[in-house]
Amino acid sequence: MTCKPIIVVSRCLGFAVCRWNGATIENSLVKDLGKSVEFITVCPECEIGLGVPRHPIIMVQKDSGLVLVQPATGADLTEQMETFSHNFLDSLDRVDGFLLKRKSPSCGVANVPIFADPDAEQPIEKGPGFFAQSVFERFPDTPIEDESCLEDLSRRVKWLKSVTKG
Ligand code: SF4
Repeated sequence: MTCKPIIVVSRCLGFAVCRWNGATIENSLVKDLGKSVEFITVCPECEIGLGVPRHPIIMVQKDSGLVLVQPATGADLTEQMETFSHNFLDSLDRVDGFLLKRKSPSCGVANVPIFADPDAEQPIEKGPGFFAQSVFERFPDTPIEDESCLEDLSRRVKWLKSVTKG
């Protein structure tokens, strides 16, 4: 069993070409971090069967609650994403932290746009993405950050200290 911190990381942060636009995001800071932690990669959108490339998905606030939809196809992915997220998080034996992709309606930790309807151009509010929200609920005491934390020295040090306590 590894004694390195185990970090669940968004797979598009340099581990696979899985973004909606068929890209990945090479991040040298994530690569460096890989020398001192063990990564478990996850791409929730691929795991629920969305292909690469794919039409973008967004969060929409309905009277019945927040939903995850793909405007180009009209697909409502809410239940699939919630089911995958719960099953994946329940399957983790040990996790010391999460490092997720910012601004994603799935992985974004905060400040992801929420729209009043699928055709709206301006968001009405912002919040965490669906997968990140499940992380907050399932692991309320586990450090969760997006990759921007690695660019800021004090945030990076704080997050690294918190995951090494796990
Ligand atoms: S942000 Fe999350 S769901 Fe989107 S491509 Fe990256 S890993 Fe996949």
